[in-house]
Amino acid sequence: MKDIKELTLKGLEEKLKSFGAQAYHARQIFSWIYKKAALDFGQMSDLPAGVRVKLKENFYINGLRIIKRLESSDGTRKLLLALKDANLIEAVIIPVKERVTGCVSAQVGCKWACSFCASGLSGFKRNLTCSEIIDEVLYLKKESLPRALTHLVFMGTGEPLDNYAQVLAAVKIINSPLGFNIGARRITLSTSGVIPGIQRLSGEGLQVELSVSLHAADDALRSKLMPVNKKYPLKDLIKTCKDYSARTNRQVTFEYILIKGVNSSLENARDLSRLLSGWKLAKVNLIPSNSISELKVEPPPRSDILLFKGCLVKHGVNTTLRRERGEDINAACGQLRLSYAKQ
Ligand code: SAH
Repeated sequence: MKDIKELTLKGLEEKLKSFGAQAYHARQIFSWIYKKAALDFGQMSDLPAGVRVKLKENFYINGLRIIKRLESSDGTRKLLLALKDANLIEAVIIPVKERVTGCVSAQVGCKWACSFCASGLSGFKRNLTCSEIIDEVLYLKKESLPRALTHLVFMGTGEPLDNYAQVLAAVKIINSPLGFNIGARRITLSTSGVIPGIQRLSGEGLQVELSVSLHAADDALRSKLMPVNKKYPLKDLIKTCKDYSARTNRQVTFEYILIKGVNSSLENARDLSRLLSGWKLAKVNLIPSNSISELKVEPPPRSDILLFKGCLVKHGVNTTLRRERGEDINAACGQLRLSYAKQ
């Protein structure tokens, strides 16, 4: 049994011909999979029954299994998925007004072990393949029906730029009119600050969004929170991001989760303003941290969050404040997998 998604349109046309079937069914099959999230050949009602049987005998559509599905009171849904080798990954769907955003994992576990993130707690296991990433998107697409999946972010478990080739291959399928047809500007790659990956991405000629998880604006604090900073310190990271936006003419979003007593003081806000001031293509997205008791992470009080934001705005930094979502279903990165492992 083979994964049918590994075939190109041309490849599938050839395969159909070898079954004695018409090549044009390949487009129908692509449409069933990527536009309607059909996970079973039996659903493909406009294919001749014989073709459906042949397909079933030779291929599968999705290699993942849903282990658990959680739904938050705010509509956020989280899927815990098992890979063929029994490793677990998470994918989330977040409907907000007219948008439906899917969030996918790029790796099993994560090697960077940020101090506030549940994903790194059990270390790094392996990269996901392009096909596995597309499987996640397929489940999310199915989950969002009848609404369209409008946005996709690589903000689940793992570091997408450490799994560059597979992630980029997946981005191309997510973006392709024959695939999920999600516009490049609606696809976000989020990185903890892996400089070589950002440099490589700047040369791809893609219009995807780049998010950099910053979370601290001085090296001592950032290295404490994010070990990646020891390898790629702030000065180099900011220079790389400036080069990226100069080369691509794209904005860079800096994610900054606010953690009580750690990085959310006015002094921290001033450091952040200083780091980014005068750079027009930089944007800060403030996110109150999701509580993770194992890591003693909790958000600061609302008043501190607003003071922090006010300081950035006063210094002319383009700032948004994101509402935390799915808090009641452990939607923060790696949390579901963690709670599952504890059971
Ligand atoms: N490795 C990539 C992508 C995965 S993390 C990166 O670091 O960007 C996706 C986002 O979730 C990051 O911004 C990360 O910092 C954030 N995150 C991790 N733990 C969190 C928590 N406890 N609360 C809120 N956001 C968290």
